[in-house]
Formats: sequence, C-alpha cells, structure tokens
Amino acid sequence: MKQYRVGIIGATGMVGQRFALLLENHPWFRVTALAASPRSAGKKYGDVVKDRWLMPKPIPQSMQDMIIYDATGDIKTITQQVDFVFCAVDMKKDEIRELEEAYAKLECPVVSNNSAHRATPDVPMIMPELNPEHAAVIEAQRRRLGTKRGFIAVKSNCSLQSYVPAVYPLLPYGVGRVLVSTYQAISGAGKTLESCPEIIDNVIPYIGGEEEKSEREPMKIFGKLEGGEIIPASAPSFTSQCLRVPVSDGHLAAVFMDLEENLSKQQIIDIWKSFSGKPQELGLPSAPKQFLHYFEEENLPQTKLQRDLENGMAISIGRLRADTQYSYKFVCLSHNTLRGAAGGGVLTAELLCALGYID
Ligand code: NAP
Repeated sequence: MKQYRVGIIGATGMVGQRFALLLENHPWFRVTALAASPRSAGKKYGDVVKDRWLMPKPIPQSMQDMIIYDATGDIKTITQQVDFVFCAVDMKKDEIRELEEAYAKLECPVVSNNSAHRATPDVPMIMPELNPEHAAVIEAQRRRLGTKRGFIAVKSNCSLQSYVPAVYPLLPYGVGRVLVSTYQAISGAGKTLESCPEIIDNVIPYIGGEEEKSEREPMKIFGKLEGGEIIPASAPSFTSQCLRVPVSDGHLAAVFMDLEENLSKQQIIDIWKSFSGKPQELGLPSAPKQFLHYFEEENLPQTKLQRDLENGMAISIGRLRADTQYSYKFVCLSHNTLRGAAGGGVLTAELLCALGYID
C-alpha cells in the first residue's frame, strides 16, 4: 500500500492527541504536519502538550520536536506537506465549515471529527462497516467545490457509535421505534476525571446538542445516495436522553427497540455475531476482526471492562431480552475517543484510501 503523508488539525486537543498516538506506527500513514490555534503555532508539539497530555501512552517521540502550524494561517503550507488531513478542532461551527472547505479547495481531503459539515447533503457521514457506499457522493461534492481531489468526509457523533451499529443489521427485519439512554464518559467533553471534579459522585443530565445529534445523525447514516446527495432515511425513529456519568472513557447505551418481524433472541444474536463490513473484507489495518461482540453474561458489557475491546474499535452488546412495552431491550458500548472519534476517523481514512477516494 502507498504511504500517505498526513496532517492533524487540532493536534493538541483530546481527539488530536488520540490521532497522534494512533498514527505513530501506522502502516500506511505518516504524520508530516501538526496544526492547532495561533496560541500553539510556532512552538514544538512536545513543549505545548507536555503539561496537558491526556493519553495513557507517552507523546510520540517522532512528533516531540515538530513545530505546530497555525491551522488557519498556514493552510497553504500545510496542504503542500500532506496527502490529506484529520480535523478535530474546537471552533465555532461556521469557522470550522470555512476551514474544512478551505483545505478541500486546496485539493486536500479532510476526514473530520467535527459536527459542522454533518448535515451538508453531499458530505458523507461514514461508519465504515455500515455505509461505505456513501463515499460515492464525494464526486458530487467535488463538482460543487470545483476540486479534482479535495473533499470533506465526516464521522458521526460519538454518542451513536454503539447503538447505530447494533440496530443497522436488524433494519431488514423492520426496526420501528428506538428509545435510547446514553451514559457518556467525561472524555467526550475533552476532560478527564481529574479536570472535571463536578462529575465525581454525580450524574449530569444534560449534554448540549447531544440528543438532537443522537436522533438525527442515524437517519443520514441509514440514508440513500440520490441525485448527488444523501437523502436521510425516514425510519426507524429514534428518541434519546444523553447523560454525563463519572467515567473516564466509554459511552454506554441502554436501548429499547420495536421489531416488526418476530425474530427470536438467538436469531438477533446470530445476526449481530455474523455481521461484518467492508473494513473486515478489505482487511483494513484498524478494523476489528469481529465488529459486534455479544456477551451472554448478564452483568456485561461494562464500560471499564469492554471499552478497549479490539483496540477500542469493536462494539460490545449484551443483556438482550424481550420487553413488555417494546419488542426487545439491550445494552451496548463503544469507546468514545477510539471508535467514537480518532479511531473511527483513522478507519474512515483507511477505507477512503482503499476505495481510491484518497490517492
Ligand atoms: P479540545 O481538547 O478542546 O481540542 C481542541 C483543539 O482545537 C486544540 O488542538 C485547539 O488548539 C484547537 N483550536 C481551538 N481553537 C482553534 C482555532 N481558532 N484555530 C485552530 N485550532 C483551534 O477538543 P476535542 O475534545 O479534541 O474535540 C475536538 C473536536 O472533535 C470537536 O469538534 C469535538 O466536537 C469533536 N469530537 C470530540 C470527541 C471526544 O470524544 N472528545 C468525539 C467526537 C468528536 P490549541 O491547543 O492551540 O488551543
């Protein structure tokens, strides 16, 4: 496989740090540019992040002395040094939209963890195992942007990364209403348990914008490509409550689901266990071998025990049982900064390279 030169835009943040670790020894991708705000620009990466390093492993040696670029001011220089960029920045939505389009228009593909472009109809929101065919909308986006190579592809919000993969293989059997409560880690807010004392011994019943994303984004992922855009699906219908809990990493979801067809518990478990997608077929470097793991033990999955399953890239499901008001209920879990953020971004980029969208 070709070696790609890669930039991380937002490299100093929580998600950017995850990207740095995941890309340190990546077989296809080599980090050649790091960028952040003007506050960090011009300084060595190691110096900027040493007092705010949040990862379980040390700062990659190869990036310690790299000089950080200004994500906005140095776009031209950055795009000359990379084949594509990952983007995870904390800026206003309209600024992010502008920033990502600026990279794309300079013929630099952008794989984004930001929400700014998720609703743009010709920007694919890819969960690699579920909707790799949405990448085809990139051709229409390139026509709109007037580019040959540049485009933007986005990752969905981390809250839906556990239950959307669990629901997806059941769609052919008539999934109706889906009610979800999520129990989300503090790293989803870019914080640690140490830097967020208000979460200790506490649950916070509000995460700004999260419930809207948890209900709206699955519909785009389940949507169809038509006339140069992704038309969101009209069913199933999702309703959600998203809670912040005193957990470092891992978003757990409790799900109630209606199913039109009368599938048995064992049939559903078999459907989950046998489900795999393009990443497994193509043997992508970051793909989990088994995407959906079902646990028979009634006290699993647990956030702390299962979040790192298959390098944090697999989804854990358990406690499937019949319900009195819905057809079934179950619990599922994913790692929010791995599969739900940087890991999902890296897998998406691997898919786009393997499919020829990034050359
Ligand atoms: P974060 O820790 O606050 O990091 C923000 C990054 O953005 C830093 O690198 C920061 O650089 C940079 N930045 C801030 N203002 C900037 C500016 N004006 N120009 C250029 N860069 C600027 O945030 P995060 O948790 O990593 O999240 C980043 C993005 O990923 C957000 O859009 C978030 O919604 C999304 N996301 C996060 C998660 C998660 O689990 N945390 C999951 C999915 C998606 P400086 O260090 O120089 O300020």
